Amino acid sequence: MTTDASAAPWADGRSELLERLRDCVGANHVLATADDMAPYTSDWRGRYRGEALAVVFPASTDQVAAVVRACAAAGVRVVPQGGNTGLVGGSVPTGARIADGSAPVVVALRRMNRIREVDPLGNTLVADAGCVLETIQQAADAHGRLYGVSLGAQGSCHIGGNVSTNAGGTGVLKYGNTREQVLGLEVVLPDGRVWNGLRTLRKDNAGYALKQLFIGAEGTLGIVTGVALRLHPKPAAIAAAWLTLDSVNDALAALEAVQSVAGERISGYELLNRAELETVAAQFPDVRLPTDPEAPYAVLLELSDTWARADLAGLLEDALGRLVEAGRLRDAAISASEAQRQAFWFIRHAIAEANRKSGMGLACDVAVPVRALPEFIERASSTIRTRWPNATIVLAAHMGDGNVHFIPRFSFEDWQALEDPAAFADEVRAAVHDEAAALGGTFSAEHGIGRVLPGELARLRAPLELELMRRVRDAIDPASTMNPVIFANG
Ligand code: FAD
Repeated sequence: MTTDASAAPWADGRSELLERLRDCVGANHVLATADDMAPYTSDWRGRYRGEALAVVFPASTDQVAAVVRACAAAGVRVVPQGGNTGLVGGSVPTGARIADGSAPVVVALRRMNRIREVDPLGNTLVADAGCVLETIQQAADAHGRLYGVSLGAQGSCHIGGNVSTNAGGTGVLKYGNTREQVLGLEVVLPDGRVWNGLRTLRKDNAGYALKQLFIGAEGTLGIVTGVALRLHPKPAAIAAAWLTLDSVNDALAALEAVQSVAGERISGYELLNRAELETVAAQFPDVRLPTDPEAPYAVLLELSDTWARADLAGLLEDALGRLVEAGRLRDAAISASEAQRQAFWFIRHAIAEANRKSGMGLACDVAVPVRALPEFIERASSTIRTRWPNATIVLAAHMGDGNVHFIPRFSFEDWQALEDPAAFADEVRAAVHDEAAALGGTFSAEHGIGRVLPGELARLRAPLELELMRRVRDAIDPASTMNPVIFANG
């Protein structure tokens, strides 16, 4: 169905702005009908939907700046969009026009996809914000370097989206979050001016580190158009193991034991519970679990080293053998080939898609101190089982970072029978978040706040923190032009 724009009360203003947007980026790069805009006005799972006045595809920083200036002058909000893979609906347009209630303009960065420069000596890479994460990884690889962030959506999420959500993923234990990779940024501010902070320096103490404000800001403070990133030496030896265990405590003991012999070589430590593995097996029948499918927990462990002759498989054999003897490990399979290592990772990366098809999962992206993980999982599971016995608890954890995706899942039938699903989802999530908070944890480890969690931010963060956040937002975007996510009342 195509929306008849001329029927809207703001039709005149809209036509004028649409003309200006076409002047900015070219008529072929502006979408304005509901059908054309549909892929950009809902998220990939179809959970969040919004309306946009237009979706524009700028090809340069100057074009982004011109678009933002036009929107700001018209009093129309701007929602930046990368790969639209976010898990909290932050890239889905929301929030009424400041002046008269019309929808925002989505600025989709996908045409800004150029690697601008790679410097293997300085270990830096500069790119447009619309580059897909995998393109960044490949560009680094082509120069014998590694970009340290990897995650399940890497074939479609953008580096600008990663910066704006401070994405974590599976390599955080060794390389850190996206924040740790960012050396400099280029940002179009809410008034259309361009801040060029695209420096590749390792040391720069000249005043406040402004880049930090835009990392994890979810498009509320401006549009990231360029990124300068840190690269790492590329591993020359790599080995993975699939562990099966009886408890989270055993998984923690195994982490501690492997850490003590492998240290910084651990480049992945991902925990999955049996319900999660069953979910993957049900949705991807070709998947073969490497070891005992009946075990309550499994861990995907990976080691890597830049020294080609490092005997990582031998190191794993020793450490894991001792754990089996001590009764802390049921079984382990060490990857015998690159294909087998990839097969282990396929299981890990299949989770999001398998979960999406299997019911209504309320993903709680929690982090607690690593040592508190067993207690958190125990307490949160007990709370969910007591209050909502019809829920299936699936979990996948970037365990080395203390980050658990704890997901109470309801059948589609149970979900459809709910009178107020949104209120129900809030209640379930709050119950899990409270358990994390009681252990000194956070309710948002790596996915951000988006349009799902502003209430939790207001509930769980101290008033002073909220006041400071708002003051930063108001200082940089006094006219409220940018994406109105994060804060409960705009
Ligand atoms: P979008 O979804 O398009 O946008 C996300 C937010 O950033 C929005 O608020 C948007 O307005 C803002 N934004 C986007 N681009 C810009 C820009 N250029 N300037 C300013 N603001 C901008 N996340 C993790 O952290 N770790 C994981 O392990 C992980 N695994 C995932 C696995 C799968 C299968 C999927 C589908 C998602 C996963 N995610 C994960 C979530 C998601 O991929 C990340 O949040 C990612 O960083 C979002 O990037 P994007 O380009 O898709 O951003």
